[in-house]
Amino acid sequence: MLESLVVGAGFAGAVCARQLAKKGHRVRVIDRRTHIGGNAFDEFDAHGVLVHRYGPHIFHTNSKRIFEFLSDFTNWRYYEHRVLASVQNQLLPIPINRTTLNRLYNLNLDESGVLDFLEKVRLPRNPLRNSEDVVLSSVGAELCDLFFSNYTLKQWGVPLRDLSAGVASRIPTRSGDDDRYFTDSFQFMPGEGYARMFERILDHPNIVLELGTDFESVDRKNFGLVIFSGPIDAYFNFCFGRLPYRSLRFDHQHLEVEQFQSVGTVNFPNQHEYTRITEFKHLTGQRVSGTSIVYEYPMSEGEPYYPIPRPENEVLFKRYQELAKKESDVIFVGRLAQYRYYNMDQVVGAALAATDSL
Ligand code: UDP
Repeated sequence: MLESLVVGAGFAGAVCARQLAKKGHRVRVIDRRTHIGGNAFDEFDAHGVLVHRYGPHIFHTNSKRIFEFLSDFTNWRYYEHRVLASVQNQLLPIPINRTTLNRLYNLNLDESGVLDFLEKVRLPRNPLRNSEDVVLSSVGAELCDLFFSNYTLKQWGVPLRDLSAGVASRIPTRSGDDDRYFTDSFQFMPGEGYARMFERILDHPNIVLELGTDFESVDRKNFGLVIFSGPIDAYFNFCFGRLPYRSLRFDHQHLEVEQFQSVGTVNFPNQHEYTRITEFKHLTGQRVSGTSIVYEYPMSEGEPYYPIPRPENEVLFKRYQELAKKESDVIFVGRLAQYRYYNMDQVVGAALAATDSL
């Protein structure tokens, strides 16, 4: 049997490669970058702090299967992510919860008071056609302006109403005090980091890894099955035009203080050109002197990080997807190949599903 080719050594590619290797395929994994792990790649910076080169990656899932799959390759550190939003000179919990409302409006609402409050301010929309409808329906116009409108414009370059409902639906509204960013049943960070976990996923006698290698430079004839995890429009030479992706610029900094901020991430919806600052020691639990942080600046040009979920992009993606269906022996998996705003666990799930059926 011909060797299989896996394009991309991020979650999609690495998980597919491992599954194929387990089934007895010989697999060659290529990545044009010189490291594995895709955008989840982490490394020790010059000060010995474990940082995520491409911005914060916080693992969470409700899937036992996905968690158990990854558990073969890493131990875990329990970590519940918390985020504060800088709004009107206060740092307030986001997702909006009881504390957020009481501090913002100087109130003392209990849970049912919060529900009454939200009922008064919300602007019900039915159906929920876009992200603006989602936010207005749950918290109304003022909270939408304070927490969502400007953040979204900065992050995506388009207003809430131009984004599919799924984007804002990622952020719930809570009547109680739960201030965790995620409520999934499994919330853990890889104990020795993502890069180490990927090394183990790819460490298999049937897997050969070639870094710094472009898809264009390989001879397809030498391979049977191809797993492609890059941008689907690039695979088809942009024949229908470019699918829009949102990019980011990361500004990593190190400070000689023990702690820079009280939680993992602080969001800045209404100030600055960056959207948020993340302090890595919260995520990793590392005890080293000094601390490392990253600022995220959204960009329209650059490495593709986020598909932009909006109807017109979905239409264009569907045209590429039709071509993809006709491409025999090629499987398209991952955020860029499926043009889906997947979380890491969803990419693992998609990779497992793609290889299960082989
Ligand atoms: N969002 C917002 N304000 C916030 C947090 C999130 O408006 O304080 C919106 C924004 O559109 C963002 C989306 O919700 O892009 C999803 O947020 P999430 O934190 O899940 O984004 P990610 O971590 O994937 O960049």
